[in-house]
Formats: sequence, C-alpha cells, structure tokens
Amino acid sequence: MSLLAVENLGKEFGGLRALDDLSVSVDRGELVGVMGPNGAGKSTFFNCVSGVVTPDEGRVLLDDADVTGDSPEALARAGMVRTFQHTRELETMTVRDNVRLAAPGQPGERTLPALLRTGSMRDREREVRERADELVEAFELDHLADEYSGSLSGGQRKLLELARVLMLDPDLLLLDEPFAGVNPTLTREIAERIRALNDDGMTVVVIEHELETLTELVDRLVVLQQGSLLVEGDPETVLSDERVIEAYLGE
Ligand code: ADP
Ligand code: MG
Repeated sequence: MSLLAVENLGKEFGGLRALDDLSVSVDRGELVGVMGPNGAGKSTFFNCVSGVVTPDEGRVLLDDADVTGDSPEALARAGMVRTFQHTRELETMTVRDNVRLAAPGQPGERTLPALLRTGSMRDREREVRERADELVEAFELDHLADEYSGSLSGGQRKLLELARVLMLDPDLLLLDEPFAGVNPTLTREIAERIRALNDDGMTVVVIEHELETLTELVDRLVVLQQGSLLVEGDPETVLSDERVIEAYLGE
C-alpha cells in the first residue's frame, strides 16, 4: 500500500498543460527523487499534492484516503508537509522565531493577556521553544539564531526552511529543490540531513532539476517531461536512459 499516490492528475494554466495524466506513487519509508527539465511540472505536482493548487483531473491519495483539494493546513495535520522552491521565511524575524512560529496550535501571544494563560498553554509554549532550539542547533544555525533571517545565505535559508517544516513533525516530507543555489558543502550537509530523516522512518520526496545530484541520495527516481511521467526506476538505470538524456538535451 502506498503512502502517497496520485492518479491521472491533470492541470492546465490558460491552455498550457502543466500536468497531463500523471500517476506516481510513493511507498512508506521511501526516499524518492523527482527530476525533469525546467517547466516539466515538478512544482505543479507538489502544488497539487500539497493542496496549494487544485488539480483539474485526477486524485491524490494519502494513506488511501482521498485528499484531493484538501487545504495545506489539513494535509499538514494529516502528516504531509512541503517546502517551496523559493523559500518563504519571514526576513524581518529572527531565525529562532521563524522556527518557533512554524509550530501548529500555538496560543496567540499578542491576543491573549499573559494573566489568562493556562498551565497547559505554558507547557505547550515551552515545548515549542525547546523543539525549536533543538532544531536550530541540529541544523547548525545556533550561532545565527538571533539574527534576522534576511541576513542568511541561500543555503542557510534552505536549512532554516527544513527546520521549520520539521516543527510540524511530518510522516511525509516534500522538498522542492532543496539544493538549488546552495554551495557544495551545505549541499552535502542538507543531503545528510535528508538521509538521516529517512533512516529514522520519514518518507521523503525531493525535487531536483539537475541530473546527478540525487544519484547517491535517493532509492528511486521519477522523471517528468511536459507534465507526464517519462521514466522511473533506480537512479543509475534512469540516468543512463536515452529518453532522459534527450529530454535534458532538448532544454
Ligand atoms: P517545474 O517545477 O518542473 O520547473 P512547474 O510545475 O513550475 O515546472 O511549471 C510547469 C508549467 O506550468 C510551466 O510552463 C509553468 O510556467 C506553468 N505554471 C506553473 N504554475 C503556474 C501558475 N500558477 N500559473 C500559470 N502557469 C503556471
Ligand atoms: Mg519547480
């Protein structure tokens, strides 16, 4: 049984077919790479799966439940979270606060007078603070914790975004180009984090545009072209497939 399955997904934007009869499934515990030339529909695939965009056709199944068109918040509660190709942290907030605020179900600090806060709210707040500090440290952002996020490098932002989604404690993590614009050292670091999360049981799907980057990391590669599945299989077989090479040459 798959943890995630999309069936015959279709999505059009003003006459342009971004997804065309796409069916892909991911088993629990897998680490899967999604590749394809620019404009192949990779981000649209994530957008449809994560409730950011509603597909015109087809279904999205999470743990066998039909979640097509469910909101990103509902899907996060069901255990699925995603990052965006362009990071979305708040630049005028500190790194630590960006991580803390990603946590769900926090009592509103500004709207509720401190005197009215109950013990369980205070416990929850402490839990959030501790978890955020753990993640900031685990991602080696502790020396930057009190800096504004706007001052981070592209690679550090990707680490921050990973820390933020992990506050939601997902079963299924969707990462849209986590290595884009990241230097080789941080790329290795981010890849190791992804590998470690998967070793701990998290199911992960990673989008990557470049060939090769995912070869060492993932169990299986799925290649999209013009909104459809072109090839899938183990990384070495996929990367030596003529159709894949051709799709990239034609870019
Ligand atoms: P990829 O992530 O593989 O580079 P995308 O999924 O971002 O590809 O885009 C696939 C196609 O759909 C592109 O032609 C893109 O311009 C178009 N597209 C994606 N999102 C939108 C949108 N919100 N509005 C209009 N066109 C879009
Ligand atoms: Mg994209």
